[in-house]
Amino acid sequence: MSVEPTYGPLVDGHGRRVTYVRISVTDRCNLRCVYCMPEEQKFRPRPHLMTREEIARAAGVLAAFGVAKVRLTGGEPTTRPDLVGIVADLSAIGFPGGIALSTNGVLFPRMARDLLAAGLTRVNISLDAAEAEHFRRLARRDHFRPVTEAIELALSLPFESVKLNSVVIRGFNDDQLLPLAEMTRDRALAVRFIEFMPFGDNAWSQGEWIGWEELRGRLESAGYELTPVGKGPVSGPADEFRVSSPDPSSGGALRCEHRGTVGFIAPVSDRFCDTCNRMRLTQDGFLKGCLFGHGDVDLLRPMRQGASDAELASLVRRAAEVKEHRHPMAVGMSRATLPLHGRNMSEVGG
Ligand code: SAM
Repeated sequence: MSVEPTYGPLVDGHGRRVTYVRISVTDRCNLRCVYCMPEEQKFRPRPHLMTREEIARAAGVLAAFGVAKVRLTGGEPTTRPDLVGIVADLSAIGFPGGIALSTNGVLFPRMARDLLAAGLTRVNISLDAAEAEHFRRLARRDHFRPVTEAIELALSLPFESVKLNSVVIRGFNDDQLLPLAEMTRDRALAVRFIEFMPFGDNAWSQGEWIGWEELRGRLESAGYELTPVGKGPVSGPADEFRVSSPDPSSGGALRCEHRGTVGFIAPVSDRFCDTCNRMRLTQDGFLKGCLFGHGDVDLLRPMRQGASDAELASLVRRAAEVKEHRHPMAVGMSRATLPLHGRNMSEVGG
């Protein structure tokens, strides 16, 4: 089922059509990834978070603008006890581009089948290291095993796609580049390497950042041959590549095609602002045009004050109108001049 776009297409102030919304359902997380949130992160009081019904209502208004694809993120969405119900609600609204989930995987095995049955179509699992000790240093929690189980389980279920997201930080986990890429050899997994972004109060430095071209070069130096995969109508921000590499079972004499793909997500090198089709809804109900954006429009307070759907629709239109053309790094801002907006990544929904 899909909703007729009763409000017409949602077009931002720069002429780009918005077809994709990322909804953060919580700011809470069961990991403390060093690049994402501090150990002592303070969480919003639960009454400040959107309820299941409020999420469904906001999603329904966005669907009525022809927004076709939705992703649930956080914080860690699987820490919400009503996540399966939220997916079922979105499924009933109808998103023809699919309902996706970004998760760290720790709790995913417990609910994977229920999420699938409720209508979840795609899963992205974050994993920044292929080895347990590296994982613990990055995530500051010892949950490597359930995450690897989550990946294998997701691959065994009929999801449309299973992707792995890895943030690469020089001197911290860049030695994991090849072990992570190797996971594509025998698995139908899309492994995507994400450029480390300065955000909130994370400890980002230019020296720790590695651009996607260097990452690609390192894989090629290791014998990987990368062939670009064309972007589809609902492709995300990654540049994806099919991979062939020397086959270890032939001593490297023969090459083998990997079952999965490798991709790069390059927000700092600015690979996608021009074609950005997304908006974000924070767990406390603010609609944002850009991860780094400032023109947030509050949908939750009006909803709680009795706003009609038509009133919510005009707030959605306003948020689209003020959507930033490019994010600050894409216009050459350094860490020192980057405007801070008081939220860490986990509070926006990365
Ligand atoms: N907990 C879920 C997960 O782990 O996928 C969803 C939320 S998490 C904030 C979403 C994505 O943002 C993850 O893939 C994470 O690696 C990425 N992320 C967080 N901080 C980042 C940063 N500073 N730079 C680049 N990516 C980041």
